[in-house]
Parts: sequence; structure tokens; C-alpha cells
Amino acid sequence: MQFPSFDLNGRVALVTGGGRGIGRAIALALAHAGADVAISGRTTSRLQNTAEEINKLGRKSLVVTADISKLQDIENMVRTVVNEFGRLDILVNNAGINKRVPSLEVTEELWDSIVDTNLKGTFFCCQAAGRIMLKQGKGKIINICSLTSQIGMTTIAPYGATKSGVLGLTRSLAAEWARYGINVNAIGPGYHETDLTRPLLENKAWMEKLMPRIPIGRVGTTEDLMGAAVFLASDASNYVSGEIIYVDGGFLSGWNWNL
Ligand code: NDP
Repeated sequence: MQFPSFDLNGRVALVTGGGRGIGRAIALALAHAGADVAISGRTTSRLQNTAEEINKLGRKSLVVTADISKLQDIENMVRTVVNEFGRLDILVNNAGINKRVPSLEVTEELWDSIVDTNLKGTFFCCQAAGRIMLKQGKGKIINICSLTSQIGMTTIAPYGATKSGVLGLTRSLAAEWARYGINVNAIGPGYHETDLTRPLLENKAWMEKLMPRIPIGRVGTTEDLMGAAVFLASDASNYVSGEIIYVDGGFLSGWNWNL
């Protein structure tokens, strides 16, 4: 019997938004599992900090400053990674933004900024990496979705639209590229403490409403996402395609009502 391998030794990964939050945790998890990891984002100083942590794990790192809402930056980013490492095995499309605004107040500018980063950016990162992975005949793409890929939430309609869209493109690309040895899957985080969610999680009234919605009884850490990321990046997930793994403390499975 052949047991599955979670080992990423010799693999090259690229994590967008790898300078902080969930992207940083996933970059470190992939490095811990053996991969050399390139990290990208708009803020070089934060990326350098993650790169140092990757190096401390004994892996190679690469910092690529890039804004994924710009197609030229995406092309340059992927080219830089391939020039440095000679290949690209794992792409984690993590970079994303959100802003809480009642739908009647959403401007065209806000809509465009969220869609250009979360949806357009994710698609064109897949396309740029897909070109390399198709030639290699192997690759793993992991898109970071959200609870809003599955359910509606108030005051974040543009974000919800993009995250539902990212799940849709995960399934479409999975169907299109499976025959070329590329697995395209997604992770749907619940509520994890990062710069993105901190204002919400520091709001006492909000937390009182949120906690009964999380059966496991706590907000997630960024470390909680590491296992799913390593699984979807490794050979252990070779027969998993077009799927989403929710890492949400049970949020979507039911309520924690203690009646
Ligand atoms: P953070 O705000 O902490 O981090 C976002 C990351 O994305 C930063 O590294 C940021 O770097 C990068 N980024 C943002 N815009 C761009 C851009 N245009 N080009 C390149 N990089 C960009 O958020 P989280 O870590 O919480 O979120 C990471 C992902 O997880 C997002 O897609 C988010 O939607 C998703 N998510 C998070 C949840 C949570 O509970 N935290 C729940 C569900 C989903 P920089 O600013 O330097 O460019």
C-alpha cells in the first residue's frame, strides 16, 4: 500500500499577500513542510520579515513586491519566481481586501478595488501560474475563499460577490486543467484574527453575537489554516479537485446554541 506524502521538499511555492495574516501563516506552513517559498504583496518590509522566518526554517525565500490588481505586476511576479527557482509547483492566491459598507453606499471605486484585487487578481494569478504548471504537467493552486463563498452576510456585498466568484473559478479551472495534472482547490476560512478582522473581533457586541455561531467555541488563529494548506499543496490531495475545505470551527455546519 502506498501511503500519501505531505512532504513538500523540492517544491516551489508562491503565496500572494504572504507578508502578514493568513498568507504569512500559509507561507511558513509550506516552508515547514519542505517547500522553498516566494511571497508577494505591496509592502516590501513586511514580506522581508516573513522571508527571514522562511530562511530560519532552512528553506529558500524570495520577496516579490507586486500589486495583484495589476496584470503587469502579476506577469512580472510569476516570471521573477520562475527565473529564481526554475519552476512553480504551488500557488496560493491569498491576497484579498474587504471593506464593510452598507450596499446603498457602495461606490463604483470601492466595487472596482475589491473586484480587481480579489477576483480579477486571483484569476490572472491562476492564468500566469497555469501557463508554467501546464508545461510542467503538475501543479497545485489553492484559492482563499470565505464563508461568503457559501452564505450571504450584511454590508460586504462586493466582497461576497468576489469570494463566490473565486469559488466558481476554482471549480471551472479545476475542470479545465485537471487533465494537465493541475489541482485547483480552495480553503474557506471562518473568522481568524488578522489585521482584516481585528476591528470586528475587538467589538464586544459583535463578539457576543458571533460566539454562539462557532460550535468549536473560539475564533480561529492563522495557524488553524496551516494543515489544510499543506494537504492541498501536497501529493496527499492528488485526487481532490475543485473542492473547498472550510476551516471555520464548524460555523457552516450549525449553531452552538446551548438551550
Ligand atoms: P490581511 O489584511 O491581514 O492581509 C491581506 C494580505 O493581502 C496582505 O499581505 C496584503 O499585503 C495583501 N494584499 C492586499 N491587497 C493586495 C494587492 N492588491 N496586491 C498584493 N497583495 C495584496 O488579511 P487576512 O490575512 O485576514 O486575509 C487573507 C485572505 O484570507 C484574504 O483573501 C481574505 O479575504 C481571506 N479571508 C480572511 C478571513 C479572516 O478571518 N481573516 C476570513 C475569510 C477569508 P499588502 O497590503 O502589503 O499588499
